[in-house]
Amino acid sequence: MTLPHFATYTEKGAVESFSYLRQVCIARHRFSWSLVGLLLLTLTAGCFVTNSQEHRVNGIVYWQSGAESRALYYQAFNIARLRLDTILKTNKAGGKPLAIVTDIDETLLDNSVYEVTQLRLGFAYTSQSWETWTKKAAAKATPGSLEFLQYAQSKNVQVLYITNRGVDEEEATLRNLLELGFPWADQEHFYPMVKNAGPSKESRRLEVAQKYEIILLIGDNLSDFSDIFEVTGIGPRAEAVDKAKDLFGKHFIILPNPMYGDWESLGVYATRKDLSESEKDVLRKRVLKGEP
Ligand SMILES: [Mg+2]
Repeated sequence: MTLPHFATYTEKGAVESFSYLRQVCIARHRFSWSLVGLLLLTLTAGCFVTNSQEHRVNGIVYWQSGAESRALYYQAFNIARLRLDTILKTNKAGGKPLAIVTDIDETLLDNSVYEVTQLRLGFAYTSQSWETWTKKAAAKATPGSLEFLQYAQSKNVQVLYITNRGVDEEEATLRNLLELGFPWADQEHFYPMVKNAGPSKESRRLEVAQKYEIILLIGDNLSDFSDIFEVTGIGPRAEAVDKAKDLFGKHFIILPNPMYGDWESLGVYATRKDLSESEKDVLRKRVLKGEP
C-alpha cells in the first residue's frame, strides 16, 4: 500500500531531518575545530607569553610565608635590643641625644602585597604604581619592629627615619607609621629622598649625626648603613661586607629581603638600568655558582 503522503512525509522529514542533522554536525564540527583552535592558541600562547616577573615568586613566598623570615626579623630586633641595653649602660650623660637611624621599607613596613600585585600583573616596579600603593598608607609592621622602636622610645632614644620614599609620599608614610604606633613619626624625624639628590643616604646620615649620637642603624639594604657599601658588582660588595664584618649585629642591624634590593640592582645588574627582562634573566643565571 502506497501512502504517498506518508512516504512523502517520511522522505521529506527524513531529508529535512538529515539536513538538520547535517547542519548540526557541520556546526558542531566547526565548533569542535574552533575549540581545538582556541585550545592550540592558548597552549601556543602559553609557550611564548610568560610572566617576566615569575622569577620573583620564591623570594616573595619566603618573605611572606617563611617562618624563618619572621624568625630572622625577631632575631635582628632582639639583637638590636641587646645592643641598645649595652650601649645605654656604658653611655655617658651630657652628649648629643641618642638616636637610632632606620630605613622604612621592608625594615619597618611590609610592602609585600604591592610586590604580589606587580607580580600578578607581570610588571616590574614602577614609581607610579609604587606611589599608588604607598599613598594608601596600608602597609603592616614587620615582625618585631614596632616593639623594638617603642622600647627605644621608653629608654628616651629617638628614631630617625631615613627613607628613599619621596617627599610626595611623606604625609601618607607618616600616617601609616603613626597609625601602627611607631614613635617619633613626624616631619622632624623623617628624611625622605629629595628630588635629584640621588638614592644615597650618606648626606642625610651626616645631617642626623650633627644633632644626634647615632648608636644603631637598621635596614634591609647595605646602603642603609654606610656609603662604604655603595660599590658596584657582586665581588666588590662582598669585599666591602667582609671588611665591615664586625659592625653587623653591633652597629648595623640587617634584615632579610629576597624580594628586591641593592643585591639585585647594584650587585647582579651592576647599576645598569637599560637591561631588558631577558638580559636580566641571563645575568641572574650567569652569577650562579655551580659545580666546576
Ligand atoms: Mg628598605
